[in-house]
Parts: sequence; structure tokens; C-alpha cells
Amino acid sequence: MQSLGYIGFFAQAFQELSIEGTPGRVVSDHGGAYLVDEQLTTVSGRLRHAGTQPVVGDWVVVRDTIIQAVLPRRTELRRAAAGRRTEVQVLAANVDTAFVVMGLDDNFNLRRLDRFLTLAQGGIQPVVVLNKTDVSAEGESRQALVRQLHPTAPCGRISAVTGDGLDFLVPWLAPAQTVAVIGSSGVGKSTLINRLLGEDRLRTQAVRATDAHGRHTTTHRELLTLPGGALLIDTPGLREVQLWDDAGLDDAFSTVTNLSQACRFRDCRHDKEPGCAVRGQVADDELRTFHKLRRELRHQASRQDGRIRLEEKRPVRLIHRAQQRKYRGEP
Ligand code: GDP
Ligand code: ZN
Repeated sequence: MQSLGYIGFFAQAFQELSIEGTPGRVVSDHGGAYLVDEQLTTVSGRLRHAGTQPVVGDWVVVRDTIIQAVLPRRTELRRAAAGRRTEVQVLAANVDTAFVVMGLDDNFNLRRLDRFLTLAQGGIQPVVVLNKTDVSAEGESRQALVRQLHPTAPCGRISAVTGDGLDFLVPWLAPAQTVAVIGSSGVGKSTLINRLLGEDRLRTQAVRATDAHGRHTTTHRELLTLPGGALLIDTPGLREVQLWDDAGLDDAFSTVTNLSQACRFRDCRHDKEPGCAVRGQVADDELRTFHKLRRELRHQASRQDGRIRLEEKRPVRLIHRAQQRKYRGEP
């Protein structure tokens, strides 16, 4: 409903492809069965054959409890599972903002923050949420440090327990905005989510779903609707990110980085360069992941640079516009 514009945009494309059905959004994933709004669905054989796997947040087209199509994703929250099983895993789709939650207590760790921030790429706005101000005397200095290291990620301090500072989150919680809440275990994600949901948690989040046989079951949502109309994603997939938190990406990077010290060329891309110390030492798929991640990080950096430049120009543009109005005699 809120995103009819987006759906409408694709409706025509689907009509042309003669995909018929009702658009809906995946609110939870039960391993092969998906809750789409209030309906338990499965994926069509054709999609399964094509390797298409819906995730929470996906917009899909459903006919007779079968997902017929997955709409192109605006964004993907994903992790690169590096190492032996190299694959990029999509954790959630169509996410606007990622709240990266970190405790201001012993949990505070800049390296870990870096890793969680790498999840929010390709159009997802990362927002650093430093939690537990009520038990930390270093909140201010730590916030300053984060701001210095990640100038393009808004960073605020809150206490999910006392409710202090929650106003900071308001700009990203407008109606129809989708926010994924990530961060390692114990940082206060559940406490924060419960607080934002208020009394609505029990009322709206248990779902009486209908399956293909018309049977009713009670299930849960992982895409949660806030009273104000924003959507929060809280999936087990995101909760398990911590498993990767201290291994995966870091391993892939450190192995390649360490080996590359011995490459003949400083700027070796470990591709076809002679005297490369990395190629051959690292499994091909691992190297591919490394390249992919590095490309994504570069892309993210350049995107952020672009945004900074735009922001810097904004006041100038506003002044220009005001001057033009003045010359035209407009108010
Ligand atoms: P999660 O694993 O990220 O979902 O974290 P929880 O929400 O379960 O919180 C872990 C622990 O931290 C619980 O004991 C919470 O009561 C506590 N906690 C969460 N937020 C705050 C806070 O702002 N201040 C304090 N003092 N404790 C908090
Ligand atoms: Zn090399």
C-alpha cells in the first residue's frame, strides 16, 4: 500500500511477462515457506529452478499461495561468507537504513563496528546507534571517535532502557521506511525494538496465517511494523551475523593482505600480474570474494564521497536559487 508507486512501476513489466498475481511483501522466512503479508506461501518450481530465493523484505507476486516472481531489489543487506564456502548471502531486501547498534560498555569495539558497517552498502544508509549511555562515562568521547572515523554515517547515543536520546532515530523511521537492526549479541537490539514497538508488539506481530489448504496457523513476523508506519527487520539471519563478526571477512582480507606484501608490484591486483604472491596461494573463490568485497567497498566509498560533495554544494545552490528569485522579483 505504502509502496504502490514502486509496485506500480513493476506491474506493467509483469503484465508484459504475463506474470499474474497479487503483490505482497515477505515478512518472514520459515525455510522454504514464506509469510507474505498474512499468507503462507512457497516458491514456484520455475523460480526455485532458477535459484531465486526470496528473503525478508522482498516484494513478490503471489498467485494461489505460490510466489510467482520476486521484484527487483532496490537494496540488499548482505554478507560475504568468505572462506571455504564462498558465497554472498542476502540477509534482507529493500532495506533503506541499517541501525548498527553497539554498546558503549565493554562491547564498544571499532573493528567490530567496521565489519557491521560493511554490511550496509549499495544504497543502504548506515546509522551508528551507540546504546547504553546510562552505564557509560565515555559516551561522548566514543561518539566523537566514531564520527571522526565514519563521517558519512550519522552517529547518536541512546539508552534503550531509559529511552534517552531516541529522538535521534526519528529521521529514519518515517512511514514505509525499512530499517534493519544489526549488531552483535547483547548490545540491546531487542530492548530497542521493543521500545520502538511499544505496546504494539504483541498485538500486531503474531500473525494468523492461512496456508495453501486454507488452514490457519499462528506464526511470527520478522518485518515488524512500528506504530508510526516504519518497518523494522529483526530476523534470525541478522542475529547470526555475529558468527561471521569475528571471522569470515577479516580472514579473507588478512590472508590476502599479508600475502600481498610479497607481490612484485605494490599495486598488484593478484590477477595476471607477474610475481604475484597471492594467486595460487589462495583458493580462487576466496580471491573472487576478496575482489568483490573490495570493489563493493570502493564503490561505497566513492558513493559516499559523491554524497559529501553534494552536501557541500547544497548551501551554494540554495543561495543561487534565492538570488535568482530575488532578481526575478519573487519573494
Ligand atoms: P540483543 O542481544 O542485542 O537483542 O540485546 P538485548 O536487548 O537482549 O539486551 C542485552 C542486555 O543489555 C539486557 O540485559 C538489556 O536489559 C541490556 N540493555 C539493553 N539496552 C540497555 C541500555 O540502554 N542500558 C542498559 N544499562 N542496559 C541495556
Ligand atoms: Zn599479487
